[in-house]
Amino acid sequence: MTQPLLSVSSLSVAYGPVDAVRAIDLQVFEGEIVTLLGANGAGKSSTLNALVGLVPVASGSIHLEGKDTTNQAPESLAASGLTLSPEGRRVFGALTVAENLQMGAFSIADKGAISAAWDRVFELFPILKERRHQFAGTLSGGQQQMLAVGRALMSNPKLLLLDEPSLGLAPIIIEQIFELIGQLRDQGVTLVVVEQNVAMALDVADRGYVMAGGQIVASGAAQELEQTSNLQDAYLGGH
Ligand code: ATP
Repeated sequence: MTQPLLSVSSLSVAYGPVDAVRAIDLQVFEGEIVTLLGANGAGKSSTLNALVGLVPVASGSIHLEGKDTTNQAPESLAASGLTLSPEGRRVFGALTVAENLQMGAFSIADKGAISAAWDRVFELFPILKERRHQFAGTLSGGQQQMLAVGRALMSNPKLLLLDEPSLGLAPIIIEQIFELIGQLRDQGVTLVVVEQNVAMALDVADRGYVMAGGQIVASGAAQELEQTSNLQDAYLGGH
């Protein structure tokens, strides 16, 4: 069997007395899109943040390409090919589009690789090229999301983690974001996508995990999860 690109074993995250993630196991194989679903507070963001070293791992382990990366610093993980595009976009509004993108390449020393990353991001997002001298704060919500993803891509990730990329965006922009997710996979990027938009996430993903109360309560092929009739009511807070 092929070795997983990412392997998470019995991972727990705690904030003082709050157990946000409770001994979860998950694996991501090269070339896959894996979606992580769950209601608000289920522990999805905490999981992603622990993977990239933004919150400490309380127990358990994380392996990237077979190497133990548990509790490594975000910079060193980015250099190893693991990058997060965080929830809420978090672009720097007072910096230009180009300056925001440049920050995403901080972990890369090779000038050729940086120049290839600029080309790729501008090809994927022509609007960012057009607006490269504009302050990021003047972009629309959808454009800021594209900038956040573009910035994450500047580090040339093998594994890109997207935390709620469709949050707060208009339906037509959400469609573009999901189209982009498929395009990135076609370009060889492996993705983990946290989403509230369950139908669209399962549509684009190969496999999914469902979290509730910090645990993984269901997992499987996206198509199988799609057919789980009580998925929404049982785990995702209904509606
Ligand atoms: P959301 O979609 O709302 O972001 P989520 O599934 O990503 O939800 P987390 O944000 O990981 O869930 O939160 C998991 C639990 O940890 C929740 O009970 C939350 O209140 C708690 N939590 C998250 N961040 C912190 C923090 N910095 N300090 C204390 N508790 C936190």
